[in-house]
Amino acid sequence: MTRPTSRAPAGLDRYAPVPTGEPLALAALLGDGRLSGGSPAVTDYEHDLTRWFGVNYAVAVNSGTSALHAALHAVGATPGTEIIGPATAPPATAMPILTAGGTPVIVDVRRGALGLDLDDLQRVITDKTRAVISLPLWGYPTGDKDAAALLAQAGIPLIEDAAQAHGTRDAGELAGTIGGLGCFSTHDRKLLSTGEGGFVLTNNPELHQRIESWTRLGHLDGATHGVNYKLAAPLAVIGHHRLAHLAGQLATRRANAQRLLAALPADGVIRELGVPPGGSPNQYTLVLTADTPNPRFAEGLQSAGIAQDSRQYGYRPLYQRPLFARYSRPCPHAEVLAASTYQLPTHPGLSPAALDWIAAHLADLAQGARP
Ligand SMILES: *Cc1c(COP(=O)(O)O)cnc(C)c1O
Repeated sequence: MTRPTSRAPAGLDRYAPVPTGEPLALAALLGDGRLSGGSPAVTDYEHDLTRWFGVNYAVAVNSGTSALHAALHAVGATPGTEIIGPATAPPATAMPILTAGGTPVIVDVRRGALGLDLDDLQRVITDKTRAVISLPLWGYPTGDKDAAALLAQAGIPLIEDAAQAHGTRDAGELAGTIGGLGCFSTHDRKLLSTGEGGFVLTNNPELHQRIESWTRLGHLDGATHGVNYKLAAPLAVIGHHRLAHLAGQLATRRANAQRLLAALPADGVIRELGVPPGGSPNQYTLVLTADTPNPRFAEGLQSAGIAQDSRQYGYRPLYQRPLFARYSRPCPHAEVLAASTYQLPTHPGLSPAALDWIAAHLADLAQGARP
């Protein structure tokens, strides 16, 4: 292989889809004039979502953060209650717990994985526990179905923060449909983008009713407390159009990921993050890993302009952020995972030349990463 040039091609970290039909549909909506979250366009989009994910109910909201807050509210997160979540959580996963007035309880993940460590989980469950959050970070499946079964027995709801996991499969099922509540973001950087936005999925009619009512000011009945978290109609129209392209996007991302994985040496020193049986990542990013942090590989990626999340975004275990330091518990697996995972772009906006460029760098750097 020829030695790759060191300058990164443009557009590695951004993907801005504009499906045909979107501007026309937006123009039609502007003509219609009903732009609020009460528009039939929002109900149509919610129906699209239930069909795509194969669930009974979807509630469109104005952000992934709102989706999480609404889900937490629906399961009774209030001051004095505890919400368990993994140490791999970014602040965006955990801030809604604080907003709801609950206390975050941080648990470790399994070694080299994103799934909740069942022993650690059982250690922290109390009669104050109102919910457990499962997090398919980077669109990688958690394998948390076993945790879901254990929690179902204890009567504790499992909330999935599937903000990055549109189309991810876990034990054959779509992420966000495994626990009682699935929360998604449609922020600009997510696979389904409406600029800002989010939605909650559930099969439970009672939880659906509570979320629907609460996010819509209690339908202004004057008796029920609520917030206004509605998604505006133009964003729902964008969501409707882009959802139709999601399956194609997933196929492209998965093919791009395979192209990059094929560039790695077969020795397995640098390899893809483990995927539980029946799982399939959506390749929000391609995540590579090593048994221990590999500074040479990390530095090589960084100087090539494709730095791992821990370097590019300061990604680290939740309790290493000042806002969550007081909830610190020993989570050795999450600490190793944060430092020894490497995230690479796979989005459909990558040109063949950009993919070749990343693959060439990867091959070169993974060779040099060997002990
Ligand atoms: C993006 C994201 C959120 C927050 O979603 P917003 O739409 O930005 O509010 C929450 N959790 C995770 C894991 C995310 O990636």
